[in-house]
Amino acid sequence: MGDLDVMPQAKAQGVRIACPARGPQVGLKEGLVARSLEARQFAYCPYSSFRVGAALLTPDGSVFTGCNVENSCHNLGVCAERNAISKAVSEGYRSFKAIAIASDLQDQFISPCGGCRQFMREFGTDWEVYMSKPDGSYLEMRVRDLLPLSFGPEDLKMKKETPKEF
Ligand SMILES: [Zn+2]
Repeated sequence: MGDLDVMPQAKAQGVRIACPARGPQVGLKEGLVARSLEARQFAYCPYSSFRVGAALLTPDGSVFTGCNVENSCHNLGVCAERNAISKAVSEGYRSFKAIAIASDLQDQFISPCGGCRQFMREFGTDWEVYMSKPDGSYLEMRVRDLLPLSFGPEDLKMKKETPKEF
């Protein structure tokens, strides 16, 4: 139960921790986590040596995977999560059920960066994020809990003050 003690704050924010070894069966969530773990193998990370994989589930059951892709111009690197989402959007998907994320960190669950949280939020706040360890255990949260008080496409349509001069 050491994992429960690692993230006391997360526990208070509606986080669920799952360990496949303890569960009665391997389900959809565990399968998606497994796909994200597999996706790590393609990570292009010669600068950080920090492999990340992601697997994104669409409402029709399609899965899009992604890995981090770094660049010698360092600020051009792209995260695994954003790669997976971009792949899906470029094939016509705009809503998602869940995304699993994997890294090589043994003692902690991988957590998406702030940029990826915002990228996820663009496509809704009510879908799931599974943050895993290499052993397949994972933390489960929803996008809205990972990025509270977020700004999204709906906000652009809200009532605005009219500027006096443009
Ligand atoms: Zn990121």
